[in-house]
Amino acid sequence: MMSRKTSEKDVRKVSVLGSTGSIGCSTLDIILRNPSLYRVEVLTAHKSVELLANQARRTQARLAVIGDKEKYAELKELLSGTETKVSAGRQALVEAAQYPVEWTMAAIVGAAGLEPTLAAVKQGSVVALANKECLVCAGKFFLDEVAKSGTTLLPVDSEHNAIFQVLDIEQRDTVKKLILTASGGPFWNTSIDSLRLVTPERAVAHPNWNMGAKISVDSATMMNKGLELIEAHYLFDMNEDMIDIVIHPESIIHSLVSYIDGSVLAQLGSPDMRTPIAYALGWPNRILSPSPTLNLAELGKLTFFEPDNRRFPLINLAREAIRVGGNASVIINASNEVAVKSFLDRRNCFLDIFKIVSRTLDKIKTRKIKCLEDVFDADEEARHVALDVAKLCEEG
Ligand code: NAD
Ligand code: MG
Repeated sequence: MMSRKTSEKDVRKVSVLGSTGSIGCSTLDIILRNPSLYRVEVLTAHKSVELLANQARRTQARLAVIGDKEKYAELKELLSGTETKVSAGRQALVEAAQYPVEWTMAAIVGAAGLEPTLAAVKQGSVVALANKECLVCAGKFFLDEVAKSGTTLLPVDSEHNAIFQVLDIEQRDTVKKLILTASGGPFWNTSIDSLRLVTPERAVAHPNWNMGAKISVDSATMMNKGLELIEAHYLFDMNEDMIDIVIHPESIIHSLVSYIDGSVLAQLGSPDMRTPIAYALGWPNRILSPSPTLNLAELGKLTFFEPDNRRFPLINLAREAIRVGGNASVIINASNEVAVKSFLDRRNCFLDIFKIVSRTLDKIKTRKIKCLEDVFDADEEARHVALDVAKLCEEG
């Protein structure tokens, strides 16, 4: 890890990939509250052209990129009369991620974030990683690129950011367990029968966190914790049996590290992503964040429960994917993306998500990952198979 002391007068050049999403907007919120510390160079989005143009105007970004080529003319028009350059398409996203900056927020959702984030990594600055799919899909390959380019990777996912804050890297061999907390989402104590009737509206209404639709559904199925387990496995180089998961519905303790002397260190805070984002933006210093101050007396008590693997089998499937290795985690990630989309589009029911992911993994022969192409191939194959499985579930 790089140790770089910034003085108050340093202005850091930053890019925000996926700036119109939940994490992207929170990142810009903190940046705009600390105008003397940051200068926005690049902003990117997929389709939200108006929001992207507004953000570019407010931050006076040098470059705004829209993934959807059909929105290019609209973006150009919305930003006419400004200094902001405009481009569009997948390749433009990758080029934008290579723009020379000192700090990049990688907050594109899903496997679509892999290529742009890798481009940011190769550019060799500090990459704040919100997109968990990079590690889930490309794990070792991604970390090798980080090492090769001398990039500093800072975890933004609240659990991994918490562990990053309390893990004593110098004494890694004294770590007994990592303990990831999970809110459990809106249905952690809902019966299987009621789970059958869950609608997209109820699934995206997370009790504590305000997040994008995909991760909110992942939180409701607990696939999010499965993906985070894989993320933690790679980030902290821990076997899956060294990583425990505990349900903590209040989302106040964001994760813990248990040491061999019996000490358990935790990071606490209000459930507001602006805290881990501010940590990554300020690192190695701390900066002001507007997150509400935690009031423990007002909270009164914190509660913890064992996850129910019978109702939420995707956590164990993620453990299996780690043990199998190779492209198994690419397969579960891609099939989950298909299943979540199909559920949000009301083609499949909530419980189908579990079936689609596990049946897709069963149907595909797992292979080693030797290069990035292997990741894309596995991703594509899994999406095809998952679509077929989803159709069968829909009909059945
Ligand atoms: P979101 O859906 O709110 O936003 C996603 C962003 O990515 C948007 O700017 C969108 O325009 C862009 N995007 C979507 N598809 C794209 C594509 N195909 N190509 C290029 N850009 C595309 O998502 P989010 O909730 O902000 O999550 C972003 C990432 O951060 C995810 O990987 C998620 O797992 C992770 N994360 C989110 C939270 C949270 O609280 N929201 C917490 C931890 C981790
Ligand atoms: Mg998380």
